[in-house]
Amino acid sequence: MALSLYVHIPFCLKRCIYCDFVSGVYDPEKADAYIKALKSEISNIAGAGPFSTLYIGGGTPTALSASVLTDLINHIFSRFQFEDNYEATIEVNPGTIDKKKLQAIRSLGINRISIGIQSFNDRELAFLGRIHSSQEAEQAVYSARDAGFENIGTDLIYGIPGQDMVAWKKTLETTVMLKPEHISTYELTVEEGTALYKSLKSPLSSIKFEIFKEMLSEENIIEMYEHTIEYLSSHGYTHYEISNFALPGYQSRHNLNYWNRGEYHSAGLGAHSFIKGNRYCNTDNLEAYLRAFSENKSLVKESEYIAEDKVLSESLLLGLRKIVGINIESFSTRYKINVLSHYQNEIRELQEAGLIEIVSSGCSYETNLRLTRKGLLLSNEVFLKFMK
Ligand code: SF4
Repeated sequence: MALSLYVHIPFCLKRCIYCDFVSGVYDPEKADAYIKALKSEISNIAGAGPFSTLYIGGGTPTALSASVLTDLINHIFSRFQFEDNYEATIEVNPGTIDKKKLQAIRSLGINRISIGIQSFNDRELAFLGRIHSSQEAEQAVYSARDAGFENIGTDLIYGIPGQDMVAWKKTLETTVMLKPEHISTYELTVEEGTALYKSLKSPLSSIKFEIFKEMLSEENIIEMYEHTIEYLSSHGYTHYEISNFALPGYQSRHNLNYWNRGEYHSAGLGAHSFIKGNRYCNTDNLEAYLRAFSENKSLVKESEYIAEDKVLSESLLLGLRKIVGINIESFSTRYKINVLSHYQNEIRELQEAGLIEIVSSGCSYETNLRLTRKGLLLSNEVFLKFMK
């Protein structure tokens, strides 16, 4: 089983209207203090490993200068051991990178880059509050290639108010033309606490009416998702998780470890770890994080031992996110239960509703439990059933 490390950088140049990640607007003084504390936290968990994957996410890690990033990445690689064929990803935002910064990152051992493109339509990018244009997003992919990245991921968003199929098709086509190894496509959701949520809830919001008017229907969203699957599959991308597609050999090993319920350590504001059956969550308050560092106190806000019944449902929910689903024999061996009899009522009802199916895994004597095409569209219904 893989072991992963996640490092969080909670700064962005500007907040996007839909964002509910742990991140604030970049401030050089706060960023300096944060990096100092983060390096100390990393030193305290040194000794863990060897790691198969590293993911530096945010926020926008590339909001930091090339020299600060260099120092941080060197610190990570000097404190931990990584397997020879490790995967190390950094998230970047077009508008915060140049060739020099990308070359520095690549030369330090980061071998995968995840670019937050979101859309190739300037109106949509402006609506989302992104700091970059579609042209800059395109340029970011070329610059990453020039800097030597052979494993490039791109994030896209569909279901943006005012977006139509023509615009979404264009975004997908432009992305495929750039030949990234990995494509993630997420439906825009309105999360509580975001600027988008507040605009929609406020009775005085002037943009509320405009947004509502342009909100997409469920049929539009389904049409976009189905087109995404057809289009990317017909261009060589394997659909391997509800929202993720990859060229052969380029599935995100870091995220697969989450979906396989593997262990991961983490460092940084609001970062989550999962070690020996326990889940830990750092404080997501920057002042509290910095204070804990200066007072030499614990950064952990919450910890939870995952009880047996939750382990099963959690593993099932995570595993079913993968298009192959879960291997029934491996799952039963790992958790010492027969999954088919343990969940026989739930599985029968979901099979009857056409949401899940049991299929041969490729080996004649093994079987997988997985979402059907209809189940992919209604995955939350399936997950709820196993959470009861
Ligand atoms: S760049 Fe990403 S993390 Fe930063 S505000 Fe936008 S969505 Fe949030």
